[in-house]
Amino acid sequence: MSEFPIRKTEAEWRAELAAKDTEPGAFEVTRRAYTERPFTGKYEQIWADGSYHCICCGNHLFNSTTKFDAGCGWPSFWQAVPGAITEIVDRSHGMVRTETVCSQCGAHLGHVFEDGPAPTGLRYCMNSAALEHQPR
Ligand SMILES: [Zn+2]
Repeated sequence: MSEFPIRKTEAEWRAELAAKDTEPGAFEVTRRAYTERPFTGKYEQIWADGSYHCICCGNHLFNSTTKFDAGCGWPSFWQAVPGAITEIVDRSHGMVRTETVCSQCGAHLGHVFEDGPAPTGLRYCMNSAALEHQPR
């Protein structure tokens, strides 16, 4: 994996996430690229105003104005904050997908697909456990 500005050991991330009010599996999702089960994340059906940040480092990733209901069971956005996310080609599970990671700390967030709504046509399919919502 490429270099990210914020680098910590697995033990440090585990301790840091344990000290926060994270969802179960936050460590496995963000540091091991697990995918949470659909329709289980606390942000899947949250529509409150505000911003969404990386659960690991607080990097501002999305705004609530770009969140939409994709019906897929994961929080979905049609636009990311410019520069907040790094895209990586993911060839696991016999598919070619575009993985999205936090540009600051490399946390696995989810994938981006090209079947989203206007104006971007993108669908950032995120793990709720990788996100932290901050009210406006
Ligand atoms: Zn981060």
